[in-house]
Amino acid sequence: MKIHEYQAKELFRRYGIPVPAGGVASTPEEARAIAERIGGKVVVKAQIHAGGRGKGGGVKLANGPGEAETAARAIIGMSLVTHQTGPGGKRVHKVLVEEASPIARELYIAIVLDRETSRLVIIASSAGGMDIEKVAAETPDRIFKTWVDPALGLMPFQARRVCFKLGLSGQAFKDGVDAVTNLYRLFEGEDATLAEINPFIVRTDGGAMAIDAKVNLDDDAGFRHPEHAALRDLTEEEPLETEAKRYGLNYIKLGGSVGCMVNGAGLAMATMDLIKLCGAEPANFLDVGGGASAEGVENAFRILMADQNVRCVLINIFGGIVRCDRVAQGVVEAVMNLGEVDVPIVVRLEGTNAAEGMRILKGSGLDFHAVVGFHEAAQKAADLAGGD
Ligand code: GDP
Ligand code: MN
Repeated sequence: MKIHEYQAKELFRRYGIPVPAGGVASTPEEARAIAERIGGKVVVKAQIHAGGRGKGGGVKLANGPGEAETAARAIIGMSLVTHQTGPGGKRVHKVLVEEASPIARELYIAIVLDRETSRLVIIASSAGGMDIEKVAAETPDRIFKTWVDPALGLMPFQARRVCFKLGLSGQAFKDGVDAVTNLYRLFEGEDATLAEINPFIVRTDGGAMAIDAKVNLDDDAGFRHPEHAALRDLTEEEPLETEAKRYGLNYIKLGGSVGCMVNGAGLAMATMDLIKLCGAEPANFLDVGGGASAEGVENAFRILMADQNVRCVLINIFGGIVRCDRVAQGVVEAVMNLGEVDVPIVVRLEGTNAAEGMRILKGSGLDFHAVVGFHEAAQKAADLAGGD
């Protein structure tokens, strides 16, 4: 789960990573009041679950409360488009108003899981700031990585090495070592999946601090952190995904046109692969789960159909624990309850009670394309979706 910068900075404060003083505002007047409290120059920052805000016009410096109010008026309500939001952008509901920092240097520090080594990796670069993606693509030698042994945890020498590589010295070096150490503590303590500071700045007075903060939290560790639930911002999340979660369905919306209803994550991924191989793009990942009920299938189908991009639905079920006849029943009920379904539906059922399931589909009088083979089913769905 993603959280906002202002929430990530709350976590930073709790773990002793220095951040500028500030507050979050939902209206220009609130932004003005916060700027008055801070005094002097402030920065007004759009709070959305996406990076690249600076380049998109979502980060503005203001000389005082009046300018802060004007900046907040321009930012709140805007659809902020960045390289991470897609062309539609994201609507801004809140801004963070903070004391502006006098920047001497912008650095990059992050911790993320390296799946190849099964270890946390600390990634650092002295070329931090808004062009870090370009640095990674064009001058990867400017990025330093160090892997943490999970049995030992982060060793003090590793935090120091990161800061040497960042070219820090004096007070900034001490601040840097503390920040790396505390970022690691935060990552472990909060069960994060990503903790990133970009930029970590050296101030003109010599100290160093975080002026941006990005933390993703592991949903699967949510049971250990009931307080994380309050950090979720549903307005930032895909509404169909939120609804799917309510029914215990694993649904991820994607950009293609073939809606997929599959049981089991492995089969779901294989189905997406085959759709691509057949020349189309999946509209979603959807795992209805091993023990899907007719009702669960009906909900899944409704969610699939709510996606305007879907031009064909492929139902690919292997009946193991879930019985094919129950799935078929759920699909038939869903189609009847939805009234009009104007896209073709390709069905492949295999396994427990597959023949019975097919009989139910055929006997329903509804228009299904029943296909036996996996590849044929994917090809049929891709063809019916018109390829893209
Ligand atoms: P992002 O673009 O979404 O990653 O937002 P950031 O919080 O990283 O801000 C983008 C850029 O704005 C930073 O890289 C800085 O160059 C600039 N910026 C942000 N806060 C301040 C500030 O307090 N003072 C100054 N001078 N620049 C800032
Ligand atoms: Mn940033």
